Amino acid sequence: MGVFEAIASHEQVVFGVDPASGLRTIIAIHSTALGPALGGTRFHPYDSEEAALDDVLRLSEGMTLKSAAAGLDLGGGKAVIIGDPRTMKSERLFRAYGRLVDSLGGRYITAEDVGTTTEDMVLIARETPFVTGLPLAHGGSGDPSPATARGVVAAQQAVAERLWGTRDLGGKTVAIQGVGKVGTNLAERLHALGAELIVADVDPAATRRAANRFGAKVVDLDEIYEVECDIFAPCALGGILDESTIPRLRAQAVCGSANNQLATDEDAERLEGRGILYAPDFVVNAGGVINIAVEMEGYSEARAAAMVDRIYENLRRVFTIADEERINPHEAAVRLARRRIDEIGTLRLRQRRDRA
Ligand code: NAD
Repeated sequence: MGVFEAIASHEQVVFGVDPASGLRTIIAIHSTALGPALGGTRFHPYDSEEAALDDVLRLSEGMTLKSAAAGLDLGGGKAVIIGDPRTMKSERLFRAYGRLVDSLGGRYITAEDVGTTTEDMVLIARETPFVTGLPLAHGGSGDPSPATARGVVAAQQAVAERLWGTRDLGGKTVAIQGVGKVGTNLAERLHALGAELIVADVDPAATRRAANRFGAKVVDLDEIYEVECDIFAPCALGGILDESTIPRLRAQAVCGSANNQLATDEDAERLEGRGILYAPDFVVNAGGVINIAVEMEGYSEARAAAMVDRIYENLRRVFTIADEERINPHEAAVRLARRRIDEIGTLRLRQRRDRA
């Protein structure tokens, strides 16, 4: 496939280089129908330029759906920097990147993502105001993970309401795959609500911490798919729900923070076929983007928390659409997002036309 064909569903794709610092970057703006395209900068040693382009196109489209479904006035974008974040980071590289972001005049707003930190955003902010997710010391909202975990709990309460008629998670067993930043915060919140926890992680220090602090039962990496539990919460990797793992699940629902949990769209049907309720990842894990969206207006933790808690209602709306239109929850969440883009996005276009 040629480049123009590959980017046909996106508004704009920008390539940038700075040979002196080794910067090679691609910024993809999928949609600005609802507002500026917000999405993080991923720093990753891609195997090829094609792999980097594929990733940024897929991720930016995912951001459009995530922000639209969350009810934000934001579009979808994403950026990738090609290279090893452990060896290639420098002030010059991030400032050169910041100038490229600035040249887009606010159509794209960046933030941290895999391979970049809130501190890296401070360097970018020296070249452009179009960056969010700054550290607390710089007047930002800091690490978004607590907000993301708060949103996962709100989503799990909506799952509980639907399956068991009460949003109370006390006494429920939740299996968490990956107790990193989000997983650990989620475990802490669930423990406080009286849930039982089962955890797995490649990092033994992470599981030890969860066992000591929250009384979590630790299982092997592969065993987490098979444990008997009420909710399975993927909080590590994408693409983990597929034809080999779904038949092994002994959970009543899947509801976690990981991005792109379904290996393919058919896996949503596969879960449905097994009678497992799937809470669409981009609705569940919107707490982080909601948090940085609040930062753009002047950060307030209380306002961010109130907005993140709306994920409960949002997910209930997704389940209602799924019931009424006899589709799976993943498809319902995509429809919810697309309908909002159609309704509100075209309203904005009309206003622009009327003013002209
Ligand atoms: P993290 O890197 O802090 O945590 C991931 C954890 O998963 C680590 O402890 C890692 O050791 C573990 N892990 C890696 N491979 C594993 C495997 N095969 N089995 C079990 N554990 C494994 O990342 P995070 O910020 O906690 O994010 C977790 C997930 O949530 C990611 O998919 C991320 O894209 C998504 N997400 C995060 C946020 C956020 O605010 N941090 C927002 C939206 C989505």
